[in-house]
Amino acid sequence: MKKAFSKKNLWDKTPHFLKATIGSGLGIFPTEWLLGEKFRKNRRFARESQWWKPERIREYQLLKLREILKLAYEKTRFYHRLFDDAGFNPGNLNSLDDIKKLPTINKQTVTDNLEDMFTRPVTDSNVDFASTGGTSGMPLHFYINADRSSVEYAYLSTSWERIGYKVGMPMAVLRGRIVKPDGNGLYHEYDPVLKHHYYSSFHLSDENMARYLKHIATIGQCFLHVYPSSAATLARFILRRGIQAPKNIMGIIAESEIVYPEQRRMAEEVFNCRFFSCYGHSEKLVLGSGCEKSNDCHIWPDYGYFELLDKDGNPVRTSGQQGEIVGTGFINTVVPFIRYRTGDRAVYVDDHCEVCGRAHTIIRDIRGHRTQEVLIAADGSEISWTSLNMHDDTFIHVRQFQFMQEIPGQAILRVVPGEGFNDKDIAQIQRNLGAKLDGRITFQIAPVEAIALSARGKAIYVDQRISRDDIVS
Ligand SMILES: [Zn+2]
Repeated sequence: MKKAFSKKNLWDKTPHFLKATIGSGLGIFPTEWLLGEKFRKNRRFARESQWWKPERIREYQLLKLREILKLAYEKTRFYHRLFDDAGFNPGNLNSLDDIKKLPTINKQTVTDNLEDMFTRPVTDSNVDFASTGGTSGMPLHFYINADRSSVEYAYLSTSWERIGYKVGMPMAVLRGRIVKPDGNGLYHEYDPVLKHHYYSSFHLSDENMARYLKHIATIGQCFLHVYPSSAATLARFILRRGIQAPKNIMGIIAESEIVYPEQRRMAEEVFNCRFFSCYGHSEKLVLGSGCEKSNDCHIWPDYGYFELLDKDGNPVRTSGQQGEIVGTGFINTVVPFIRYRTGDRAVYVDDHCEVCGRAHTIIRDIRGHRTQEVLIAADGSEISWTSLNMHDDTFIHVRQFQFMQEIPGQAILRVVPGEGFNDKDIAQIQRNLGAKLDGRITFQIAPVEAIALSARGKAIYVDQRISRDDIVS
């Protein structure tokens, strides 16, 4: 039994049958206790650190940066070479600004140099192999501390507390997990340790969604933990059917995908609760979320070192200006990520939150790899997917939709028809969306049975097959 809990990321790793076995014996113990001492210690820390004053934050960041830079320099061939070439000695890091003397790295750098980036043998039992979805075409593989999840979960659950979540409360989870049907054909699995009810987000037919909602209504005061797209699919279904959302859902926690403001508005209205989004990634470099009142992203300053850089590599500190998210992780001490360009972009808001007072960097409008989110007009210009989001009932009878584009100026709109879908819907979509596109892109509507999600089950809104290199503008 002890061994099962020695890996603190057991909620990812432990096979379901084992969880059920553990749970049947341990269900009487509080979830917090089962999550382990490391989780509880990190959570105590995060609960306190989120209120630190700027000086305390800078002091801590400097300490952690020195630690990780020293480790990287002394233990890895790659960083030793990189630092020497830059004339940089980690012992001389006197202020946070000094980190700018180092070059940034990216996904390609890690892929090309991975074997020279290990600080210790990756065959150790406390090291895990990890990879990211790579929806842009190039998956990233690396290694990371096996106990990372207890740290991340401490920060995440502390973020969720801002909208009333408490560890041990039931959670209805629709997040790309493969869930097999139970004896009654319901795609549902239960983890009694975490009190998580998992439903299959790959099976969002009207019939299944009706069953999920009916089941969720029976699990008591709970939170929905979803991909933003799953929340939107559920919300559209509820609207289409004209039914009520379960009243026991206290809040929606949305992660892993970009959040479109229109989806947030719709979900909050339909479920009558907060739609709370968090930003994070598998590399565990940057983590942020909203607060008690604001939906802007508050970056945790003690989770990793965050930078927002403009295209020339200079820090973005002007409100409203966009930059690329660059992170230096404090958690991964197996393969350090130092000044890693995530490819994600965001708009800078402020160095603190006016509403809650936390001295965290505030960003908004986080965007992933751009090629997934834009359509290309005949003249090579980009039309953002967000601008095509419909604020009305255009897609009411559609379960899922996605643009596929191979030729600038032309697209195919794949739609998965829902209940009541007919030719009128096709005409309505053509008319309403066509009005927005204004002839810059012509599109055909193709009803399909299903739309493939990314390898991690995330929705892709634009299956963009035009490479950016092909666009001359
Ligand atoms: Zn705030």
